[in-house]
Amino acid sequence: MASTRCPAARPADQSTCEGLADAVLLRDRKGGERLGCVHHAAVLKASVPCTVFPGPSAYVGYAWGDDAAREVLARAAQLTR
Ligand SMILES: [Zn+2]
Repeated sequence: MASTRCPAARPADQSTCEGLADAVLLRDRKGGERLGCVHHAAVLKASVPCTVFPGPSAYVGYAWGDDAAREVLARAAQLTR
């Protein structure tokens, strides 16, 4: 079922997506970009140097002033402790 997951999900990681698959945009140091859900983007951010931007659906389900990119950064910080 890998094809139904967001682009940030790694093949070795069998977990399912959380929320929308285009919640955030990840840009790596080579300029490569990929969309991701909150869960997989946080896992990727915790292990690979990349910058997190709000994706097309970043504000869906979040209160004003908050967005999926902030959630990803918070989770990645937890994962890397
Ligand atoms: Zn995902």
